[in-house]
Amino acid sequence: MKNHKCKECGKSRPLSDFNGGIHSRCRICDRDRKRKWRAANQAMYALMTSCHGQARRAVERGEIRRPKACERCGQNHRRLLMHHERYTRPTDVTWLDDKCHARRHMESKARRRMPIAATN
Ligand SMILES: [Zn+2]
Ligand SMILES: [Zn+2]
Ligand SMILES: [Zn+2]
Repeated sequence: MKNHKCKECGKSRPLSDFNGGIHSRCRICDRDRKRKWRAANQAMYALMTSCHGQARRAVERGEIRRPKACERCGQNHRRLLMHHERYTRPTDVTWLDDKCHARRHMESKARRRMPIAATN
């Protein structure tokens, strides 16, 4: 297994410690950053959580239909994440696979300071 150096803590770790290998930060630093972000943005975090909960219930009620394909790359994925462009619009959902979702958040980072959330 090839090792990769984390740009944040400077430690060399196996590539499996980097989410999908696309991030330059190891998952320990990543988790740490998310925890800090959460503590500093409690109101936003609560909004994200409730937004996702409402979206999930809308899916259960059949108000939101889960597509087979990712809305960004058009490929079929067994696991698709519900992405919200605005957390004030819970049922306005974009379905993305893990990679497209991470990319989407990286793109919007300049506009909105937000971590890569696992489910939102
Ligand atoms: Zn690290
Ligand atoms: Zn995709
Ligand atoms: Zn998202």
